Amino acid sequence: MAWENNRPDHVPTRVREACLQRDGHRCVAIQHNGKRCPETTRLEAAHKTQWQQGETTTVNMVRTLCHWHHNRETQAEAAKARKANAARLPSTTHPRETHPAFR
Ligand SMILES: [Zn+2]
Repeated sequence: MAWENNRPDHVPTRVREACLQRDGHRCVAIQHNGKRCPETTRLEAAHKTQWQQGETTTVNMVRTLCHWHHNRETQAEAAKARKANAARLPSTTHPRETHPAFR
């Protein structure tokens, strides 16, 4: 019995298998030296773009990354999202602008 994951962004087993096969069971991340990551263990099928609610994952939407590269990418995306959210928050150092109608 296959282990099931109830996370909505979980990559279905057959999609993961097809992804790993296409990528030769090796991480596809490019390292600083310009060479492909040599990792062939702890491989994960990672979404190329952020998974959207209700979206069905297909093999073209994922690529093989090792755990380390997947984790690094996830953290970079989270940092980007935090930065975008912070930009929307009112500033603590600049006075709030008042709406022209309420002057
Ligand atoms: Zn890697």
